[in-house]
Amino acid sequence: MKTMLYEGKAKQMFTTDNENELLVYFKDDATAFNGEKKGTIQSKGVINNKIATFFFNLLAENGIPHHLIRRVSDREMLVKKLNILKVEVVVRNIAAGSLAKRIGWEEGTKMPSAIVELYYKNDELGDPLVNNYHIKAMGLATEEQVCQMEQYALKINDVLTAYLKTKKLALIDFKLEFGLYNGEVILGDEISPDTCRFWDTETGEKLDKDRFRRDLGNVEEAYKEILKRLTGEAI
Ligand code: ADP
Ligand code: UDP
Repeated sequence: MKTMLYEGKAKQMFTTDNENELLVYFKDDATAFNGEKKGTIQSKGVINNKIATFFFNLLAENGIPHHLIRRVSDREMLVKKLNILKVEVVVRNIAAGSLAKRIGWEEGTKMPSAIVELYYKNDELGDPLVNNYHIKAMGLATEEQVCQMEQYALKINDVLTAYLKTKKLALIDFKLEFGLYNGEVILGDEISPDTCRFWDTETGEKLDKDRFRRDLGNVEEAYKEILKRLTGEAI
């Protein structure tokens, strides 16, 4: 029996006959600025399902444990049901978005090494920036779990950055979510143009959700271009 457990901004999560597994349905809905801006990106669900599957497989080859069991249809993937840690892990290689604003750096400023940031996953509060002390005080995760998430996040950054470079894409920043499965920290949620910033290395063109956030036009085309560069697939 398939029951909807949760409807989020970009995905729906369904139960399956196996209590340890969930079915994820990828929608075309797009939101920005904590849900203030709403819209639709045609075929986004299909594209992000393919892109996330591609990235999860690439990460598995590089020793990163994740929730994907298999992609089951255009818009659905079967995953391990996680106890999601309410901490969003953001890795940044080049200043953009909220970091550029907060620090007063010009967007595009290169950093000598990657920055890892932690946010409290809470829509009502607008996902505030937190540190290890907040996380400990709030009981969101143990110190060991935070350390593990940060280690995986940096390794994921190395793997993705190196791979994307071969496709003439710069990985500017991205957000990850982790959860517990049999007590172990593993990667969940998705990796896609919704959750990453990708810039063309030659032209600097933005090929991610910023096209939607900032009304830059050619939003669908950007998502399709990322899929094409990763898998060669035209949709
Ligand atoms: P949001 O909740 O931010 O609107 P989505 O629309 O992407 O986001 O909804 C997906 C939800 O499912 C998120 O809350 C995410 O934390 C959660 N999730 C992702 N992967 C798993 C998993 N393997 N097990 C349980 N929950 C998951
Ligand atoms: N991000 C995300 N979900 C969020 C917040 C951020 O996927 O709820 C991603 C975003 O796409 C970008 C990175 O995390 O790749 C850093 O985002 P930033 O803090 O700059 O916030 P933004 O200005 O994009 O809201």
